[in-house]
Amino acid sequence: DIHPNCAICGHLPPGETECPHESDRLQQAVEQAEHKWIDTWLTNVREWATNTAVAHVTNSFDSLRDRRKQEYRSHVSALPYYPQYAHYRGQPPPHIVHPSFLSALRQQVRIADDQLQRLIDEDWKACVRTYPKVLEYYYAQIDVSSPRD
Ligand SMILES: [Zn+2]
Repeated sequence: DIHPNCAICGHLPPGETECPHESDRLQQAVEQAEHKWIDTWLTNVREWATNTAVAHVTNSFDSLRDRRKQEYRSHVSALPYYPQYAHYRGQPPPHIVHPSFLSALRQQVRIADDQLQRLIDEDWKACVRTYPKVLEYYYAQIDVSSPRD
């Protein structure tokens, strides 16, 4: 049989020893293909995991915030004169709500507002702290399958 000369250096390897050039070049090409595949795959996986984790954490936070706001509304609406206060957008005339009641109510609303903000901040902090676990969960869902021959 006629064997081709080395595609890289053009020489026929002497005797039984194989010229290393072709296998070196093949190894380089394999590594290049691997890097390209890994980069593409990793970019897609990262985008999917990030988007899914953000959506999950945001949904958790949104439902917590809805609950906090609901609790806030039921708390302030039970305060004395609150319906009149709300009806006049926080400025009920003195014959509707006496100024002394109004200032007490305003203080209670301010306390409730501050508490709502504080609770929402705490909820958000707690949600953000779940990112490592959430990401770990989604990364564990990723399945890498090998091609069949
Ligand atoms: Zn060679």
